[in-house]
Amino acid sequence: MPECLFCKIVNGEMLAEDEDVIVIADIDPKAPLHALVIPRRHIATLNDLSAADDRLIGAMHRAAARLAREKGYADRGFRTLFNTNGEAGQTVFHLHLHVLAGRPLTWPPG
Ligand code: 5GP
Ligand code: ZN
Repeated sequence: MPECLFCKIVNGEMLAEDEDVIVIADIDPKAPLHALVIPRRHIATLNDLSAADDRLIGAMHRAAARLAREKGYADRGFRTLFNTNGEAGQTVFHLHLHVLAGRPLTWPPG
């Protein structure tokens, strides 16, 4: 069932997982590496964090850095970012940390 979202994630898009997060490849990659670090627990946006989420946010960044290291981008360079709400372009309202690498990433972003 190649059209089934969950089959795609389980069979192909899952790059890593731990007790707090899963890491999947973005379906519409904006760089040679474009992954999403997603907490298992539902949090809609960065605006919805509480102090109790501090450890989770650390775990998300460590998962991103681990992925970049595994893919060979730790020293070359990579970018991590959260889009929050409309003007930043957030389209999926379950928190996710983008990890981009593999080409020169311009600054400032669009
Ligand atoms: P946002 O725009 O909310 O910051 O990021 C959402 C990301 O999720 C986008 O980069 C988009 O390409 C990705 N995305 C949307 N639907 C799917 C999907 O079904 N599977 C995967 N792997 N990525 C998705
Ligand atoms: Zn959710």
